Amino acid sequence: MPIQGNKRVKVLLSNMGAISTEYMGAAVRSLGINAEAMPVATTKTVQLARAHASGKECVPSHLVLGSALQFIFSENYRKDELYLLFVPITTGPCRTGQYFVYYENLFRDMRLENIVVFILSADNSYTELGGSFAKEMWKGLVLSDYLKDIQTSLRAVAENPEQALVTYEKSWRRVMDAVEFRPKDIWKELKQVAADVKKIPLKRAVAECPRVLIVGEIYVRRDDFAVGELIELMSERGIVVKVSGIAEWIHYLDFVREYALKKLIKLEKPVKRFFSKPYWDLKKLGIEEWWKHSVEKKVISILGPTGLVPETPHDMHEIMKNTQEHFVNLELNSEIAVSSGVAATAMEKGYSGIVNISPFACLIGRVIEGLFTPWARERNYPTLSVEVDGNLLPPNIVNKLNIFMVNVLRFKGGNDLSSLVDGFEGLAPEDPAEEAPVEERERELVGAAVRGNPGRDCPLSGCDGCRGCE
Ligand code: SF4
Repeated sequence: MPIQGNKRVKVLLSNMGAISTEYMGAAVRSLGINAEAMPVATTKTVQLARAHASGKECVPSHLVLGSALQFIFSENYRKDELYLLFVPITTGPCRTGQYFVYYENLFRDMRLENIVVFILSADNSYTELGGSFAKEMWKGLVLSDYLKDIQTSLRAVAENPEQALVTYEKSWRRVMDAVEFRPKDIWKELKQVAADVKKIPLKRAVAECPRVLIVGEIYVRRDDFAVGELIELMSERGIVVKVSGIAEWIHYLDFVREYALKKLIKLEKPVKRFFSKPYWDLKKLGIEEWWKHSVEKKVISILGPTGLVPETPHDMHEIMKNTQEHFVNLELNSEIAVSSGVAATAMEKGYSGIVNISPFACLIGRVIEGLFTPWARERNYPTLSVEVDGNLLPPNIVNKLNIFMVNVLRFKGGNDLSSLVDGFEGLAPEDPAEEAPVEERERELVGAAVRGNPGRDCPLSGCDGCRGCE
């Protein structure tokens, strides 16, 4: 059955962040393929998935399944249409390469014969659909990564964040319209987004704020539902949050391909090396990487002048050098390698803290924590690991986050921690001379948030103790 131009076939794109999924939906439709971007998940999405799951699966699998089931149980679902549910898979120490089998079996049990699970593999950098789709996909990933950066920065630095986000959404939605109907106008629309954003009143510049990088398991860190609460809590305190992009993951996958090809070339006899297939594949990969970087440069040249795109480490060879030097061997092909390396590089380049996010009891998240946390503590770098299960963050994690934010603000060098206390302005003494010394105020702030016994290795010297670090 043809897919292109066939209205009875629809691609269902599970949500990995509103902007990137909307972009992908528009890009696929522009190729003449019927596609629908699933909305951002809600608590109901997770509940629906749990009703059809054993409970042993992790939250990314629930989010993909839940959004598919929400569509199936909606009025938009039709028995006479064929649906292709897009599921990205990976190999390595993670079950995400197996979840599509579970979906297929479940849909068969539910007698949903018109749903086909359609997988793209990380091992090929998701290029199975051919060159032109891969090119569009790359453009989309880079654009949505940077558009997302602006969105998260606005939360922390806009004078009126709510209003700013509404204005900004109107602006980026015009880019999606261009992607679908007027592909030649994409760059023009992107310049318009930059011009619109520059008009939004800001209370401070991104460069003045402490920056926190969110690394960890790729699905939860990019899913607006899973990572949203963390971003909100930190932004409210004037911390600019940068979520590691999907483009970074693709650069890592290219690095892995390059590494594997170099190993194959070494296995060839020296006289045959320059004529071998791996050698020519490596050359082709080099051209592909050069093109990818050129697209990134173009996007940053347009959106960078807004001042709302926080700088992040880009050089994958430098990142992986840090990974190999401090954490794991390059043979390990996983988010573990790239997340620990990029976190270390970011701290060396002026970030003020790292949050490692992952699904509850995730192997990847726990290994990153085990590798990165001791390294960061030795250097007094603020770091926090958070596991999400599809519910609101529990109070003990919010307490840990409060301590983490104090450390981030101290690390950046700011002595004013008043942003951590709601309604602090009303409590401030009229005469500044009456104000308690900074250290005393800090202790009060932290102590008020987290009373208890001092925990071992508490990263916050002088705190009253919270047991959170135990
Ligand atoms: S919990 Fe983590 S390691 Fe396990 S399947 Fe989920 S994402 Fe992969």
